[in-house]
Amino acid sequence: MSARTMARLTRTATPHTQWCARDHTCGIDTHRGRPIVTARGNGRAVMTRTRAADVEYAEVVIRIPLHRNENTARKQLAILLRLLGELLDAVIVRPRVLPGRGERPAIGRRAA
Ligand SMILES: [Zn+2]
Repeated sequence: MSARTMARLTRTATPHTQWCARDHTCGIDTHRGRPIVTARGNGRAVMTRTRAADVEYAEVVIRIPLHRNENTARKQLAILLRLLGELLDAVIVRPRVLPGRGERPAIGRRAA
């Protein structure tokens, strides 16, 4: 057994965070906040703030119903992949305020 494998098996307990649920979803070195759900139609996304060791991230599970027509389902998957890329860009690569969520372009503009 290599030293690298041994390192993975050894986990150091970390204390609960201010935001974690402090329930069975927390582990020795992994802490999770309460899941937040958003839904549209029959689709839904569940986001959970998570801290594993010294790394913090958002865990997202998305359930999207696909159309029965194979071509339409493939188009949906292509749209999903493109939008997931844009989502990662917006959140990780260049964090910004999304339109309608804080940007107030009308403020300071003179009425016509
Ligand atoms: Zn915890």
